[in-house]
Amino acid sequence: MLVDGITLMHEHTTIDLSEVKNTEDCQLDVFNETVKEYKKLYENGVRNIVDVTVFGMGRNIPFVQKIADESGINIIYSTGFYQEEFYPIQVFRETREQLVERMVNEINQGIKGTGVKAEIIGEIGTSYNVWTDTEKKVFEAVVIAHQETKKPITTHTSIGTLGHEQVDFFKKHNVDLNRVVIGHVDLTGNADYILKMLKAGVYVEFDTVGKESYMPDRTRAEILKKIQDAGYIDRVFLSMDITRKSHLEYKGGLGYNFLLDSFIPLLNSHGLTDDSIEKMLATNPMVFMNQ
Ligand SMILES: [Zn+2]
Repeated sequence: MLVDGITLMHEHTTIDLSEVKNTEDCQLDVFNETVKEYKKLYENGVRNIVDVTVFGMGRNIPFVQKIADESGINIIYSTGFYQEEFYPIQVFRETREQLVERMVNEINQGIKGTGVKAEIIGEIGTSYNVWTDTEKKVFEAVVIAHQETKKPITTHTSIGTLGHEQVDFFKKHNVDLNRVVIGHVDLTGNADYILKMLKAGVYVEFDTVGKESYMPDRTRAEILKKIQDAGYIDRVFLSMDITRKSHLEYKGGLGYNFLLDSFIPLLNSHGLTDDSIEKMLATNPMVFMNQ
């Protein structure tokens, strides 16, 4: 359950993709530095972080709980399976129904025996321009888990690809598109592509703010202005998807507070209204998560 205030809808307090990515930088587990940045987030008005670290991505629930306690930030935990490149062996071995059971247990009983319950499904992903058979099995399992638990769904698209296909999939499986957010859409760099998804009825996330090597923030701002003009700003969330030690301030990265300190002023200068910004940061996540 979200509390009143700003919500970052797509972050990782801890994540470990270091084995596959072959660099220790991708093991994000730095307690003091994260607490420091989360405390600053709290001062900036952030009250909730949706932590989309799922099965096999190095979840450490007691660690995250301690960070929540120290910083005052309310963490929303998630369940699901990420994308094929990072699936643990169980995702390939188990049946669709077994995967459903894992997710339903994490929602109803708790994650890894902690009693901490997942409140959202995902990030669940497709690969770059490819939707593998195992990823299809995961998405089918997610539809069933969603129908059983009524929890919302958040997705990962690889560099923004297959967003339309994800929307079509949920539509075909009779999932209420009000309960679905398509992730990383800012990486398409394509306003028309994103507007088509919004018109279909899903939420979308501009959740890689600050990752200039993938997409300039100026482009993100220009597309958001177009979405505002088209009347769909009430279906958009903002986040940074911080996943590496080098993304944090202590390593010279932008840090979690860049979004509020730097990106929001950029949006202002591109004609985004205070009302639109309030919606993306606070109102929209509340409507989406608490419906
Ligand atoms: Zn992702």
